Amino acid sequence: MTQKAVIISCGDELTNGATIDTNSAFLSRRLRELGVAVIRHVTVGDDLERLALAIAAAADEASIVILTGGLGPTLDDVSRQALAAAMGNLPLVEDAHSLERISRFFVKINRPMTPSNRTQALLPAGAEALDNDWGTAPGIAAQVKNARVFVLPGPPHEMTPMFERLVAPRLGGGGAIAYRTLHCFGQGESAIGEQLADLMHRDQAIRVGTTASGGIISVRIAAGGADDAQAAASAQAVADDVRRRLGDLIFGQEGQSLSAVVGGLLRQADQRLAVAESCTGGLVGQLITAVAGASDYFLGGVISYADQLKGKLLGVTEEMLSRHGAVSQPVATAMAEGAAKLTGADWALAVTGIAGPGGGSEEKPVGLVYIALAGPAGTSAWRYVFPGDRDMVRLRCALSAINHLRLALLAEAHKSG
Ligand code: ATP
Repeated sequence: MTQKAVIISCGDELTNGATIDTNSAFLSRRLRELGVAVIRHVTVGDDLERLALAIAAAADEASIVILTGGLGPTLDDVSRQALAAAMGNLPLVEDAHSLERISRFFVKINRPMTPSNRTQALLPAGAEALDNDWGTAPGIAAQVKNARVFVLPGPPHEMTPMFERLVAPRLGGGGAIAYRTLHCFGQGESAIGEQLADLMHRDQAIRVGTTASGGIISVRIAAGGADDAQAAASAQAVADDVRRRLGDLIFGQEGQSLSAVVGGLLRQADQRLAVAESCTGGLVGQLITAVAGASDYFLGGVISYADQLKGKLLGVTEEMLSRHGAVSQPVATAMAEGAAKLTGADWALAVTGIAGPGGGSEEKPVGLVYIALAGPAGTSAWRYVFPGDRDMVRLRCALSAINHLRLALLAEAHKSG
């Protein structure tokens, strides 16, 4: 059975927002890699009673508890006392080995050891000291009810090496967890969630969840198993099921970007891309060139923000502009075709829209965007009204344009077998 862990971080600087809790994030990632399921993060201020309660509660629901912080020499450092309380009000006893190490540390740094540093050698009776080669406070390993509790110093440069050397080797062995992440574009989180509703029931052994960021929805799958191979096989089976349901809404996996995927398709087809951008001001080009090696398939383009440039460089006519306006399907189409002609690219993406916050009207509201794609089989265009602020509209617009190119490249690849 997969082992469960609770991570507790302790310190007023965490609860008052002065310090961001990076320790818990690090520990979660590492525990996950070790096949341990983290079920809860708890943050407690420098409060002995609350911390003792948090340790006891964590020991009730998990077999591993990791607490960071509060091992310092000052009165507000309460982790060792709180642990002793959670262990059933055990006394603190001085650990001779730790005291010896702390004294040597002060000799090494050539500073006097104060009496308060001596308190760092105190451990709840029966607990084990974890040697700290990176600072003064030793860590502590102890048993609270059925849980193994590890207390580590708060500073990340002490906590992380101590975890790796002294805690990680003692964990694992209780089963494995495998993870898969699939990235989608083209539908909202709720629409995707509905198609996966039966997989997302929280009481299932295999956990499926969604997260949304910048218009990209990621489906995250976590599956437990007796060993790595079994966990990987169940995670893969669910990933295959999700792929069948969502089809080409899924563009990539495990952190792949939409641009990287499109770049791969262009490279495979040995084709070149150019862009003509108005409201995105170069964002499509920026996203495409964020991928190393984009020069293999990206020629460049025109940022035709002003109407004169749409005419001069892309061949958009005065008549088109006065009849339909710059934000219109005919202009987007002419921009894409003009960019293809100007650069000789196989594909040209064009975007024109109203990013806001000003410039909207009833007929053409803020968020109205036209995207056109000129390609080997002709030119297509799409109309969108994106919600959100200026940044969001521009990002959605750029990503949608790149996604249309992805779908067109897939269709071409399908046609040519
Ligand atoms: P020391 O032995 O150095 O006194 P400690 O165990 O008492 O360590 P704290 O006093 O709680 O640790 O924290 C020391 C510093 O470590 C904090 O000021 C903060 O910069 C950092 N720190 C503590 N907890 C965290 C955390 N969860 N995430 C990131 N940084 C942390």
